[in-house]
Amino acid sequence: MKCGFCGYDIPPGTGKIFVRKTGKTVNFCTNRCEKNMLKLNRLPRKAKWTVAARTWKEKRGSKK
Ligand SMILES: [Zn+2]
Repeated sequence: MKCGFCGYDIPPGTGKIFVRKTGKTVNFCTNRCEKNMLKLNRLPRKAKWTVAARTWKEKRGSKK
């Protein structure tokens, strides 16, 4: 199971599952991820600790 925000694996027995009104579920590893996505509406690549941010950086870096 992977976190819907940061993209890292969530160890079994931890984390949270959030169910949207649409019926889709999102997994979160920590409150930090939950807050950033639901309350702050941040893009994963704009938060430093996420997988998306890393791959985003690498892609941009390799172009130059
Ligand atoms: Zn996370």
